[in-house]
Amino acid sequence: MSKPSTSPSSATDQPNETLVEVEGLKKYYGEAGRFSGPPVKAVDGVTFNIEEGETLGLVGESGSGKTTLGRTLIQLETATEGRVSFSGQDITKLSGDELKQWRKNAQIVFQDPESSLNDRMTVGELVREPLDAHDWKSPADRREKVRSLLSAVGLQEDHYFRYPHQFSGGQRQRIGIARALALEPDFLVLDEPVSALDASVQAKILNLLEDLQEEFGLTYLFIAHDLSVVRHICDRVAVMYLGKIMEIGETEELYTDAQNPYTKSLLSAIPRPDPTSERTRITLPGTPPSPRDPPEGCQFSTRCPAKIRPEQFADLNDDTWDAIEQFREVVRERTRLDVGVRDRMKRQLGVFSKFDDIEAAATELFDDVETPPAVETPIQTAIEHVKDGYPGRARNHLKAEFGGVCDTQRPEMHPVSASGRLSYCHRHSDEYADVDTTLERRTDGH
Ligand code: ADP
Ligand code: MG
Repeated sequence: MSKPSTSPSSATDQPNETLVEVEGLKKYYGEAGRFSGPPVKAVDGVTFNIEEGETLGLVGESGSGKTTLGRTLIQLETATEGRVSFSGQDITKLSGDELKQWRKNAQIVFQDPESSLNDRMTVGELVREPLDAHDWKSPADRREKVRSLLSAVGLQEDHYFRYPHQFSGGQRQRIGIARALALEPDFLVLDEPVSALDASVQAKILNLLEDLQEEFGLTYLFIAHDLSVVRHICDRVAVMYLGKIMEIGETEELYTDAQNPYTKSLLSAIPRPDPTSERTRITLPGTPPSPRDPPEGCQFSTRCPAKIRPEQFADLNDDTWDAIEQFREVVRERTRLDVGVRDRMKRQLGVFSKFDDIEAAATELFDDVETPPAVETPIQTAIEHVKDGYPGRARNHLKAEFGGVCDTQRPEMHPVSASGRLSYCHRHSDEYADVDTTLERRTDGH
């Protein structure tokens, strides 16, 4: 789908078939229970396809759910909800021998070549292990296969009897790749395969992966934590934040014309060769929320520089609005602090003091900005709630007073280009398309 399908006249182009279809996929860790709190929503409803022979990049900050998504795609984790199909077959329903047989088709290469290989096994044994586990052909065939794999990944035959610790990081990653290819899979999850390597070695491994893709007709999900690595190797890129795909589409388009505010801020953080060149670097406020307690509206809403203001505050001074957003973040931080038994006793006695600093924070933030009563009153109320030991109430009060659509409603995936790029943001819906935002004002030179 990412590439135009062929017309009968252009017979040289292969039409692209969809290999992987992911629909509404969720992976939660830990059950919600009386004592355990809410589950970790590592992957929280993602839908996308991967075409045969394609490399789809998956990018996002640490903890955004990339590894979990990769592992769930190939059934190393059981999906909590949703569907994963390979060539039309739903693999989330497989078990036992069917699952074991299917597993041959999809393998994973891990980030850390230092710890992902068993140091007690020789290189030959490591690469042969999957063949042994699946009782692949005869022992002689297996030896022959291992030799050809070693050569395919650029290792020598006489490496067969050496141990992984005798190799450099790049060579160890070659061993990991050879092992992943042993059972002749169609699909590989490459989980940050070059993140632990030096830049010069990175380039060699990336070239190797491209050559192998061509030679064996492989399809890749290529995971990376920043956008700079994947640009040249991926056909399309998906950008992930807090368990959600924020934007997905053709690589060059996404880099040159990002539509989602999160993609824009990630791109703005890539160091440029020429630091004097014109660009506004967007620094995201606050920290990513916990995946146990993601924002109710858009996952990115608590940090988004392009957040839509509610109408009644459209004309409010920018500095005041910034102060409100920062104050809300301070309050959210307080909701993450535990209120222990001793604190609860103090609260009952009316001598609660743990959160007294909230007043100082408010003074600091609002001292130099205009605060009309519509701002002042709710802030005051929130301060009281926090001081009483109820930061959750304060958070909800602020959301009710200052929250807009981004705080309260999940966006949809909107088409944002002719090639089928999608972006998860309220700003793309007609209703909010013209809304002026802080992001625009900031990137226009403020
Ligand atoms: P990424 O690869 O993008 O860094 P991960 O998929 O490793 O992100 O993790 C996503 C979230 O899920 C994180 O908050 C992480 O702590 C949590 N997580 C990952 N694996 C587990 C697990 N086995 N049990 C509980 N939480 C997990
Ligand atoms: Mg990871």
